[in-house]
Amino acid sequence: MSFVVGLTGGIGSGKSTVADLFAELGIVLVDADLVAREVVEPGTQGLAAIVEHFGAALLQPDGQLDRAALRQRVFNNETERQWLNALLHPLIRSSMAEQLANAKSPYVLWVVPLLIENGLCKDCDQVLVVDAAPELQRQRVLARDKSADADAIMARQLPRDERLQYADQVVDNGGNLADLKAQVQFLHRQYLSMAAQKRL
Ligand code: ATP
Repeated sequence: MSFVVGLTGGIGSGKSTVADLFAELGIVLVDADLVAREVVEPGTQGLAAIVEHFGAALLQPDGQLDRAALRQRVFNNETERQWLNALLHPLIRSSMAEQLANAKSPYVLWVVPLLIENGLCKDCDQVLVVDAAPELQRQRVLARDKSADADAIMARQLPRDERLQYADQVVDNGGNLADLKAQVQFLHRQYLSMAAQKRL
């Protein structure tokens, strides 16, 4: 059984940056956003079901899923949205479970933006929250993508203080990258020792 550290945080809080620092230490990442793309890659059962349901117009010339076209089809259509979720959620869940179980590092980092909102804390040994002030989140999101509507996305996510209540550990991403790295190194030693305890 892998020792699973769930990593979450609001938009632009620094999840990917923190996850990359753990990866540099040799820790396997299971990234929910990445898995969600993997289950609809060409040749998958997921993509075949989408094409059967919506038609081949949802494919790009290279055979990849046309995500914008799919979004258009489910936008404002609750029935189609539910159909798509019923297809994709079990595929994503089972792929993540398999990757978590097969991870070959002392512990595995499970990166899920909506870990808490989706009730997945119970599947983690520890929950690590990346925390930054909302103003900093907004600035970082806008620096990455000027057209992003950070406020709208933040309004749909759990408020900062509520998210923090679920944390076993918190990474404070209010500082610079060196500061972040030091916190990750400290947490890494903690997780190595917790994971070793679990294996006993
Ligand atoms: P999302 O929820 O949108 O996927 P995220 O939580 O994964 O975002 P990152 O992509 O890691 O966040 O960080 C958001 C942006 O802020 C990135 O451009 C990243 O390089 C930058 N960033 C993150 N942490 C810091 C920091 N400590 N100092 C400066 N820039 C940072």
